[in-house]
Amino acid sequence: MPELPEVETVRRSLAPVLEGATISGVDVDHPRMLRRQPRPRDFRDRLLGRLIESVGRHGKFLIIDVDGDLTWVIHLGMSGRMGLEPSGADRVPHTHVVIETDQGREMHFIDPRTFGFTAVYTPEEFEEQPFARLGPDALNQLPRYTRLVPRLEGRTIAIKSLLLNQYFIAGLGNIYADEVLHRSHIRPGRSAGTLDREEIRSLRNAITPVLRAGLRWGGTSLSDLAYLLPDGRAGDYLQRLRVYGRAGEPCRRDGTPIERSVIGGRSSFWCPTCQR
Ligand SMILES: [Zn+2]
Repeated sequence: MPELPEVETVRRSLAPVLEGATISGVDVDHPRMLRRQPRPRDFRDRLLGRLIESVGRHGKFLIIDVDGDLTWVIHLGMSGRMGLEPSGADRVPHTHVVIETDQGREMHFIDPRTFGFTAVYTPEEFEEQPFARLGPDALNQLPRYTRLVPRLEGRTIAIKSLLLNQYFIAGLGNIYADEVLHRSHIRPGRSAGTLDREEIRSLRNAITPVLRAGLRWGGTSLSDLAYLLPDGRAGDYLQRLRVYGRAGEPCRRDGTPIERSVIGGRSSFWCPTCQR
């Protein structure tokens, strides 16, 4: 699933093309993509003729401001990606939403599994959506560790599961949560409440460099190539991952074989020597 570095990479590609452009065409060929739109027929009516003011992001959600005080939300789901094409370009299979601009460009939302969605909300509707209550963005709004300390106190949930909770901190998924835990020497299965202040500080301080490294390489494209950049290239962070997907391979710090365990129903990869 695309996580913060992948969604931010997409945002940075879309922003210069979409910001300041006016939407001149809206084409949706799969009604499931609009399942989060209060009235699906509003989607096209609300976007046509609108100026795109800014392309933002919160956690794994693209949050796009369009004129008329509307918020256009896109979530890539499990396997969604964006393509930027000239107007009238061929559509690859599973291109379910096409947005055309008056600048002669099209944004193609390609999603084979249709777990992604898109919707346009009024301010009142937006406030009712679960993602209006996301936790602070892991890249732009990361809380100081002193503010995290009381939020971990007494918690029995595995720290890995807490990091995946988008209402705690928004943006980390399975790959980057494992990388953050390795960088901070903490085992993914530890109960959150057992972390001391130093550990919470090192955990907090590992988040930014891990996300920035992912961003620098355009995110992580796994072998399924579900995630690609909007120009069709693959993200290059896969070969640089320290633990995720590396069960049995040597830890890059100490050579110990990386272990895999299931925590909260999710595969977790960690080093039994340098993570405690
Ligand atoms: Zn290690």
